[in-house]
Amino acid sequence: MKQEKCVLCFEKIEGFGNNAMPLAEGRCCDLCNITKVIPGRIKALEDYEKTRNEARSEYEKAIKDHKERMFKINEELDDFIASFKDAIIADFIYKYHDEWIKFVKEQYEDYRDEQI
Ligand SMILES: [Zn+2]
Repeated sequence: MKQEKCVLCFEKIEGFGNNAMPLAEGRCCDLCNITKVIPGRIKALEDYEKTRNEARSEYEKAIKDHKERMFKINEELDDFIASFKDAIIADFIYKYHDEWIKFVKEQYEDYRDEQI
């Protein structure tokens, strides 16, 4: 049986050897497994966690920004509706101004007549 060489340190592998992923394809010796491959796997896991947490906080920030934007749009919409309401009232006053003055005069005259 041909003796395999470690893909990391190129020394002869004693025994079965180990999967060298994610550092390299192929097999490595026990020493490289303990000193390089296992720490490499831990680091890969930590990198994954870090990336996931970054993605999560970016997502949360996007949600927060979206909420703030929606809140602002809502406020602007309220302002717009308020100004629209004022315009309707102004239009109403303009159209019915004469009738309104007539009504007030009548009310006043009735009041005056009652006082006499
Ligand atoms: Zn090795």
